[in-house]
Amino acid sequence: MVLERQGEPLVERELPDPQPGAGELLLRVHACGVCRTDLHVVDGDLTEPKLPLVPGHQIVGEVAAAGTGAGRFEVGARVGVPWLGWTCGECRYCRAGRENLCERARFTGYDVDGGYAELAAADERYCFAVPDGYGDLAAAPLLCAGLIGYRSLRMCGEGRLRIGLYGFGASAHIVCQVALHRGHEIHAVTRPGDEQGQRFALELGAAWAGDSAGASAVCDPPEDPLLDAAIVFAPIGGLVPLALRAVRPGGSVVCAGIHMSDIPSFPYSILWGERVVRSVANLTRRDGEELLALAPRVPVRTEVSEYPLERANEALDDLRAGRIARGGAVLRVARSAAWLGDGAT
Ligand SMILES: [Zn+2]
Ligand SMILES: [Zn+2]
Repeated sequence: MVLERQGEPLVERELPDPQPGAGELLLRVHACGVCRTDLHVVDGDLTEPKLPLVPGHQIVGEVAAAGTGAGRFEVGARVGVPWLGWTCGECRYCRAGRENLCERARFTGYDVDGGYAELAAADERYCFAVPDGYGDLAAAPLLCAGLIGYRSLRMCGEGRLRIGLYGFGASAHIVCQVALHRGHEIHAVTRPGDEQGQRFALELGAAWAGDSAGASAVCDPPEDPLLDAAIVFAPIGGLVPLALRAVRPGGSVVCAGIHMSDIPSFPYSILWGERVVRSVANLTRRDGEELLALAPRVPVRTEVSEYPLERANEALDDLRAGRIARGGAVLRVARSAAWLGDGAT
């Protein structure tokens, strides 16, 4: 499924098979998660994608072939491919262990073709082993929703915290489980009227769930009312001052999305008290290794809405409209004769 021009639906195309370059794997894609970032790419909020582009950066696939020098995974191994597709290893950020900020980074499904396809090529150094016990569909949301949530959780600070999650989609439903496992308390803030989302959050163990209109209630209870930190997953700038008002002195508001509408001006008094507003950008390979080791131990159970690959536009539309009530959308890629080596049998 190909993005030919931003602002237009994806189109189904028959492309030449990708050839794995040196150090790359050729993957038969089994599943690919649909991320809000894909929407930002399709809709044109992120302005510099490769075009035409195969989107998708939560790829679960099987190694079909290895390029020259690639030997980290056996043919047949199941691997995951995240957003971070390549880094330079030389810039100030790479040298400082902050490859997520690499000045020349290439991103899967943005600078290089991604996983809304039957085949994909990926640099093996940025691929992860997928933990046993997760099916292909269940594993896909770990690869971005999970990773970004996990990195955001780390930015919330130390100790047992009361954390507000603003927006309860694919990322929040994973980070909620990890946070509870670590002894944090979760308050879930959904879009107004999203009672299904609130029920989902409570089922997962949130201490409180309500909508952004009622979120001031978080600040109101009589004893020890405030949040220690907040993670804003929804791409709505207006939530930042709302979250700041709910966070105690010294607390952080972590913006987890790659794009957000403008943040309205707010009085300095709600930032005062050493409150912090920060973003989380991309991921490091270490984030991925840590989360994929931790997920089975929690254990994180992902919920997914499944769409066949050719209905990718429907999945994107449902995500845009907030129609995915529980967890994440994932494309299932059916086994096809176009796959290498399938012709004989
Ligand atoms: Zn770099
Ligand atoms: Zn993503």
